[in-house]
Amino acid sequence: MSAARASRFIEAGASPRIRVSFEFFPPKTTEMEQTLWEAIGRLAPLRPNFVSVTYGAGGSTRERTHATVKRILAETMLTPAAHLTCVAATRAEVDAVIRAYAQAGVRHIVALRGDPPGGVGERYAPHPGGYRNAADLVAGIKRTADDIEVSVSAYPEKHPDSATVAADLDMLKAKVDAGASRAITQFFFENGLYFSYLDRVRAAGIDIPIVPGILPVQNFKQTRNFAARAGASVPAWLAARFEGLDDDAATRKLVAAAVAAEQVLDLVDHGVTDFHFYTMNRADLVYAICHLLGLRPGGEQAALPRAQTEAERA
Ligand SMILES: Cc1cc2nc3c(=O)[nH]c(=O)nc-3n(C[C@H](O)[C@H](O)[C@H](O)COP(=O)(O)OP(=O)(O)OC[C@H]3O[C@@H](n4cnc5c(N)ncnc54)[C@H](O)[C@@H]3O)c2cc1C
Repeated sequence: MSAARASRFIEAGASPRIRVSFEFFPPKTTEMEQTLWEAIGRLAPLRPNFVSVTYGAGGSTRERTHATVKRILAETMLTPAAHLTCVAATRAEVDAVIRAYAQAGVRHIVALRGDPPGGVGERYAPHPGGYRNAADLVAGIKRTADDIEVSVSAYPEKHPDSATVAADLDMLKAKVDAGASRAITQFFFENGLYFSYLDRVRAAGIDIPIVPGILPVQNFKQTRNFAARAGASVPAWLAARFEGLDDDAATRKLVAAAVAAEQVLDLVDHGVTDFHFYTMNRADLVYAICHLLGLRPGGEQAALPRAQTEAERA
């Protein structure tokens, strides 16, 4: 690392810009809808690169994902990205969803295989007549609407279904060859995992942006459950930081902000300029972290004083 920490010199106007994206899930109830729109309202003035809306397991939220994306298009200046999976649908059904998005003006899809209908841990079997995996889906999106930008997933700690790290990289390469132009990582808490993954990705000749997915720890128990299902590790030091705070929401929130700040500022110090936040439809922590990243409502996009990018780090 250079003597001067890049994160101390984030300023407006210079290049490269710090860019953020926010992930939301479609609400199930009127109350959840209100929470989501409060979060969108608070985060929108930070002018994210895009905001993405997840697709429920088994395609269960197809209509709600679509409705949320359409409302974002109709009521905000934000650029929405719709998540889409291959699960429990024929190619024709998935293609119809892609066409509907294209017609509604959606220009970005996050393409995923999805989890087996019976849940994580079950063996994944593609739907007969459906897309086989995420790479196949990326190709289908590009065939159906080739001007749609496609992002895909990436796993610094390997996807739990993947037999080897090499098989995981092969799948990422297949997704890129099919037309994906950005990967967003599963969340991680040790930045070293991200950087060694990035080295392996670049060594494999994959050159698309690999945007770190950041999960602010709103709720430690829930995070540990997510992590177990996603194959992400939860370090002992993280558990120690939240120890004894189950009944102390105010301190938990401060600790969560400190943990996330430490992670993102260290990533900035090592040349990272793009971040994807798993917001869990809550704005507070993400807003505070973005503030630390130099983002201001409606203002200039934050930037580092000078390129301290991946290329320089190498
Ligand atoms: C940024 C991000 C956003 C996500 N959004 C959603 C969402 O909106 N909705 C949702 O339901 N899920 C979502 N997920 C979770 C994702 O659907 C699951 O992790 C799913 O299990 C894998 O989908 P994928 O597209 O990552 O898989 P792929 O990229 O297709 O595969 C991941 C790895 O698993 C291996 N693999 C795949 N299939 C098999 C198989 N049959 N046998 C052996 N190995 C196999 C591949 O080789 C590869 O290494 C998201 C994940 C990320 C990181």
